Amino acid sequence: MKDGHIELDGNIPHLGIEVDESALAKIRGDGMNEKRVKVAVLGLGIMGSGMAGQLIAKGFDVAVWNRDRAKAQPLGHAGARIAASPAKAADGADFVVAMVADDDASRRVWLSEEGAFAGMRAGAIAVDCSTLSVEWVHTLSAAAAERGIDFIDAPVTGTKPQAAAGTLRFFAGGDPAVLAKSEGLFLAMGTELIRLGPVGNGAMLKLINNFLCGVQVASLAEALVMIERCGLDVQQAVGALAAGAPGSPLVKMLAGRMLARDYRPNFVPALMAKDLRYASVAFAEQGIALATADAARARFEAVAADFPDADMAAVIEPIRAIRGPSR
Ligand code: NAP
Repeated sequence: MKDGHIELDGNIPHLGIEVDESALAKIRGDGMNEKRVKVAVLGLGIMGSGMAGQLIAKGFDVAVWNRDRAKAQPLGHAGARIAASPAKAADGADFVVAMVADDDASRRVWLSEEGAFAGMRAGAIAVDCSTLSVEWVHTLSAAAAERGIDFIDAPVTGTKPQAAAGTLRFFAGGDPAVLAKSEGLFLAMGTELIRLGPVGNGAMLKLINNFLCGVQVASLAEALVMIERCGLDVQQAVGALAAGAPGSPLVKMLAGRMLARDYRPNFVPALMAKDLRYASVAFAEQGIALATADAARARFEAVAADFPDADMAAVIEPIRAIRGPSR
């Protein structure tokens, strides 16, 4: 533990854009660099801005669009073309990558009148990296197919530092031939393309992933408030837990942030609440009631109301705020 942060094993977040030579070699190997590959990135929040920055750094011809145009300016300075609509960003693109909040935002960026599908040519590849419901991913894939557009669902693991450093991992669903054509794109933004089968399987595994993460983070918050109240030495107790079975990389990272009250956003709580909501629906379709996710979601919804722009580590604050019995 250093400066109130418990470090992640071998995965210390670092910021900034770095050129990954092995990814570049992969792109060249795929023949993608014979002409500059054109990529549109839609959605320049915490994750999309890092992903677009990596594509620029790796030599792609990048167009960007964001609902709040101000967030596009730094990428414009870095060399991207700033487009006035998703359709204009997608015009002439080989790949269009969306990284937006949820199903509603995804619907807007792809399917609205000024959406990307209106600007894409047949044969271009649409990639949605947002964490979406499985049902919406299937609807979107069918809408792409009607237009002769190939579609991949590729939600990511990793957070702000990994997006900025190009070390994300992609959970991809899609046609194997389309995934093969797209590998260089993914390896410019990340370190691993995990091929999970047909469209929808990326979303499915991502929701299972975030169910496990959300429940851990909410229960960690409850455990830390207990440790703070019950008279244990906080540093010693948390260190012992982190060194043992509960010490997952996520628990180690979030325990450090919760203890340091470091709520600079990597992942805002409203998005975790959304993921747990989508997960509950997907699990219910298989007859599995997500009791633990529903309890965790209530925790994230509570903090999202009070601290909408904080990191999900702030999920501990409403629990801290409830006074314990006086002794
Ligand atoms: P974020 O910083 O909150 O950014 C959200 C993005 O979605 C912004 O570009 C926002 O535009 C856009 N957006 C929201 N509603 C919209 C709408 N109705 N129409 C058009 N655009 C809309 O979120 P993020 O952390 O980058 O996350 C993006 C996606 O990645 C989410 O699906 C999230 O669950 C997933 N994810 C996040 C992380 C993480 O650690 N942050 C990790 C893995 C996956 P404005 O800027 O105009 O608001």
